[in-house]
Order: sequence, then structure tokens, then C-alpha cells
Amino acid sequence: MELYSLCSRLIAERFDCKNISGFTAYDMALTLFRGLRSNCFRSYPPSLCITRKHGVLHCSMSSSAQGQTATQEKQHAQLKDVPKREPSKKLEEVLKHYEAVIGIETHVQLATLTKAFCSCPYNYGAQPNTSVCPICMGLPGALPVLNSKVIESAVKVGLALNCKLSLSSKFDRKQYFYPDLPKGYQISQFDIPIAADGYVDIDLPIEFGGGHRKFGITRVHMEEDAGKLLHTGNGNFSQVDLNRAGVPLLEIVSEPDMRTGVEAAEYAAEIQRLVRYLGVSNGNMQEGSLRCDVNISVRPIGQVEFGTKVEIKNLNSFSSVSRAIDFEILRQVRHIDEGQAEKIVLETRLWEEGAQKTVTMRKKEGLADYRYFPEPDLPEVNLSEEYVNEIRNSLPELPETKRRRFENMGLSMQDVLFLANDVNVAAFFDATIASGADVKLAANWIMGDIAAYMKNEKLSVNEIKLTPQELGELIASIKGGTISGKIGKEILFELMAKGGTVKGLIKEKDLVQITDLSEIEKIVDRVLAENPKQLEQYRGGKTKLQGFFAGQIMKETKGKANPGILNKILLEKLNAKA
Ligand SMILES: [Zn+2]
Repeated sequence: MELYSLCSRLIAERFDCKNISGFTAYDMALTLFRGLRSNCFRSYPPSLCITRKHGVLHCSMSSSAQGQTATQEKQHAQLKDVPKREPSKKLEEVLKHYEAVIGIETHVQLATLTKAFCSCPYNYGAQPNTSVCPICMGLPGALPVLNSKVIESAVKVGLALNCKLSLSSKFDRKQYFYPDLPKGYQISQFDIPIAADGYVDIDLPIEFGGGHRKFGITRVHMEEDAGKLLHTGNGNFSQVDLNRAGVPLLEIVSEPDMRTGVEAAEYAAEIQRLVRYLGVSNGNMQEGSLRCDVNISVRPIGQVEFGTKVEIKNLNSFSSVSRAIDFEILRQVRHIDEGQAEKIVLETRLWEEGAQKTVTMRKKEGLADYRYFPEPDLPEVNLSEEYVNEIRNSLPELPETKRRRFENMGLSMQDVLFLANDVNVAAFFDATIASGADVKLAANWIMGDIAAYMKNEKLSVNEIKLTPQELGELIASIKGGTISGKIGKEILFELMAKGGTVKGLIKEKDLVQITDLSEIEKIVDRVLAENPKQLEQYRGGKTKLQGFFAGQIMKETKGKANPGILNKILLEKLNAKA
């Protein structure tokens, strides 16, 4: 079936789920959840409107204007999150004899307006259980309806990761029981992921030796998220919040191609950049929109067989990815060196940020049997070539292409990595260049004063009042000698905070640089005449007083004197009657 016609039909259906027979199922579920969490339903979910008509339960959204996290979230200037630190001597020593083999599973929460199989929106941080319906609560008889945006996002990510797409894939049920998974199974993709066999390019930061890397992508598949358990302080009981249940995820599985913590952190950072460039997720690790599980084993250099792998969870920043891996490499090698390799077991470990170490979470006793089988409530996912091509042609310039383009503009790799890190900063830079600004000067202003201002004020580049055109004008005004660099800096802060134009501010504040020789000479003469004592001292050998005179002249001219001309005339005058 053509995806488009399928989707339009499904969307028409999804706002009116008539598959619940009466109230029985709902009542049953309420009873079940009351047992789990007594106060969840005290206030009825405001966003869910349930009515009963002709014995059929209808559910619809009373407010569809509940925005989505990604578009609302302020995407602050993302300065590099990778730790600025040197690898420890101990680790360096260990890596002369051992090699770490690292693979990463990344879960990306898609920023769709509604969940994967129902019309509930998802807003991070909303009151528990305020965005739930019979479908995402897993009530008997409720049927899932696929959100076409999930497919679109998956195809975008698959293409961006250079994967082969499965034109025909399907959903499968992954069975397991957990209180935050009321259906008793998760809708996922098993043997036919929507995308597979891709790769991603990254550039390592200069402080870690730099260099280009290519890491394989095993697969990308679609699935739904589970709810969240909220554990109480005294540990007597737990509560369940199903707002997150049914939120669409992409799971991206890498090949075990990474060898160091820094490579792994950079891989994760690139996935974040990619999903943000594509606009499919806010990629925010603190909110759990991007979650990384790392698989790591070590082996002596030259050995072909892999060592026993350990999984690390609970990594909520790129620096924790890097540090947890470094810790784990040292831990595993220590066991091998001490002749206790058996202490490395197949297990899941948690990264403890406070203690800076990994600890055992659970041992894996054989592979879990999830009894996958094709999801009978959802049709196959068939993509037409035309649909895929349409998405391919709509892709924005991706981080890797952007980096190579910036590099070809003559920028250093440090500048390239900074500017291409945030898609909005990159767009701001491009627009500044398009207005005629010098490449290196534009990069310096953006990476220097502008980035510092954004960081201090916690603003994104789209939130500051300065436009790329005015930055171009500012650079041209300094280069052309209309204003001094010092005044340029002052204007910059005004432009960022209040907006306006460079020309307007120069006129309004009478800031045009004084380059007229006779005018500057007059002021120099006056300042020298007003400070006879200092002049005598200077001529007596205290030549560092030149700075004092220059300062006085700048004060007289309100910083407008051209420093080059000023110093030339001043020096001539100071040394004239020596
Ligand atoms: Zn729902």
C-alpha cells in the first residue's frame, strides 16, 4: 500500500478511536493503576476528553495546541560539551598494550506533535499522567494507529546516516513485563529495521589530537518509549507516570568501531548534531531525549577475539560517556593484569557521576527471550521510491558536508568544529559571510564576543538582537576605518542586547573615528600642554608614560581617535624637543 494514502487514512482515523467497547476496559485499567499509584488520577487528565456516545467510547484531544518540546525548547548555544582534559598517564600506558572495543546504542526521542500510535502530545516535565489515553495506557481493545511523522523522521535519519533503507519493513512486539509498560510488550522493529548498514563521519577535537573518523552504523529502527517509574524517598512504594509511554523513539546501533572514550563521546555528539540539524529531535541529554548505552570490552592488541563486553547505562552527558569508558577500560585491564579476567562478566553497569565510577546494576544471565512476533495491529510499512527521494531532496546540509565546506573556506579545524556544532550558529555565520563580511573576521567575532555574550546571557544565536547583516556592517565599518575596534566592541554589545543598526548607532552616538591628522594633532598638543610634569618625566627617561598620554587623548576624544595615527603623532611630539 502506498504510504501516503495509508497515512492519510490512518490519521483520519486516529482522532476518533472507536475500538473500546463501553467503559469496562477503562474501569479495569483505572483499578489496576489505582493499585500502582493512588493519586495519579485524582485530577482528571485535562488534555484528554472522553465522551460516551451510542455506547461507544470516543477519545479526542481537547487541546491540540499543546506544543512540542523540541520547538519550544530554547536551543542554547551548544558550546562543546566534550571534556577539556588530557587522557591520564595510566590510561595512556594501558592503551599501549590493550585495545578497547566500543559500540553505542542511542535512543533518540522524536519531536513529533503526538505520540507514535495515539494522538496524545508529549511535553517534557508535564504533570504525571496528564497526557494519556486508552492506547498509550495499553487498555484492552485499544488499537494503535501509526503517526506518519515517525516514518518520515526515521527515513531522514537513515538517509543522513548513509544507510540502506528497507522499502518494506514492519513492526514487531517485544514482550516483557514491567510496571511502566502496561501492554506487557513494546512495539519495536526486530528482524527488518527501517534502515541498516550506514556510517557516520566525525572530526575529533584538536585538543585530542584531531583527525577524521568513520564509524559504522549497524541499524536504525523505530520503537515506542515506556512510561517512567517514580520511586519515593523512603522506598515504600513507586508511582508510575505514563506520559512518556508511546512516545516515538529511534534506536541507532553503531558497529563496535570506537576505541577510546573521546571517540565515543564525539560519536554521540555527532548523532545529537545530526538529529538537531534534521529537526527530528531536540537531542537534549538532560531531558532524556538522547540516551546512550555503551558496550565496551578490552583485548590485548593483536588479539582478534573480543573480550567479555559490559554495558554501561545512565550516561547523561558526553563527558560522562567519555569518563565512564576510561574508567571501564582501566577496571577491565586491571582484572586481566591481576589474572582475574573472570571478574569481567556480561553485565549492565551504571555510571555514578558523583563517585566517578561504574557499579554493577544487573548481571545478564543468558539472553532474554522477548518472543518477538509481527505486530498484528499495525500494517506493514511500505515506502515508495518517490517518497524516499522526496525526503532525500528535502534534507538540509548535514554537519559533515558543512564542516568540509567551512574547511575549504580556509578556516582552521577549531573554527570549523565550533561553527558547525550548532546549526543556527552555522546559519548565522553563513548569512554574515553572504552580507560580504571577511570569513576569518566573522568567525572571530562569532566565536569570541558573541559566543561569550550568548553563554553569559543564556541566549541562543536566534535570541540575540544582532542580525548577521549588522555584524557584516560592523566588520566593514571597522575595516573601512569609520569606527575603531574598541568602539566596534561597544556597539556590538548594544546591538546584541537592544538591536538597531550600526549606521544608526554611529550617528546617534557620534562615534565616527577621528582620522583627521590636524584634528588629532591639536588634541595631542593640548594634552601635552595640560600635563607638563608628566612630559618632563617622559623626556627624563620615563618613556612608559606614553601610555598615560595616549589614554588622556583617548579620553578627550571619547575613544574615537584612530590609535595608529594618534600614537604616531604622539611619539613624534614627545620626542621632538628631547
Ligand atoms: Zn495516548
